[in-house]
Amino acid sequence: MSSRPRLGVMGGTFDPIHHGHLVAASEVQSQFDLDEVIFVPTGQPWQKGDRSVSPAEDRYLMTVIATASNPRFSVSRVDIDRPGLTYTVDTLRDLRDLHGADAEFFFITGADALTQILTWREVDELFEMAHFVGCTRPGHALDVSKVPPDVVTIVEIPALSISSTECRERVVKDQPIWYLVPDGIVQYINKRHMYRSA
Ligand code: ATP
Ligand code: MG
Repeated sequence: MSSRPRLGVMGGTFDPIHHGHLVAASEVQSQFDLDEVIFVPTGQPWQKGDRSVSPAEDRYLMTVIATASNPRFSVSRVDIDRPGLTYTVDTLRDLRDLHGADAEFFFITGADALTQILTWREVDELFEMAHFVGCTRPGHALDVSKVPPDVVTIVEIPALSISSTECRERVVKDQPIWYLVPDGIVQYINKRHMYRSA
């Protein structure tokens, strides 16, 4: 018996990856019975032009460290190895080429990112390539009236009001980020002296 592989895709800057990302991925993996959730750190993120994003290799390594213990989590380099800006449609095309045309994709995003996706140019093509799972989190109300219900499912994630922005700001202010991110990420950030200045 062979059934179509069900693959979650979690794109993000992951600067740094935190427990909000990990809880969301774990919850969607379980609710949608996914075989695997593939974390895909972005290349040069065009939405974040106002601040400098950490080097892709650091963001990739942190994502590997944070996901290593979960047998259903993996990390893909497709976005960081593709030159130029990251577009989700390219991410999904590359993953389809790698995982076979019969794989079923579930693109996992936070409510804030989903609101942006709905404004993108290639949105119809995107919705043909993957089912979209919008995770609601505290402080990011989602206007569900704009969400096409046949291609997007909204999932409530156990409240974790963590953002990478807050983690970076805490490092600048010398406040602890223990328990907001996995232990290995606290240690990696210290070892590489990341986020020390605003
Ligand atoms: P930043 O503060 O730099 O924007 P972030 O915490 O939003 O970082 P991203 O790397 O931008 O993290 O997010 C990757 C994906 O994870 C996005 O789809 C985002 O909406 C989602 N996400 C981020 N934080 C959470 C959270 N606490 N719970 C659920 N989803 C989240
Ligand atoms: Mg964000």
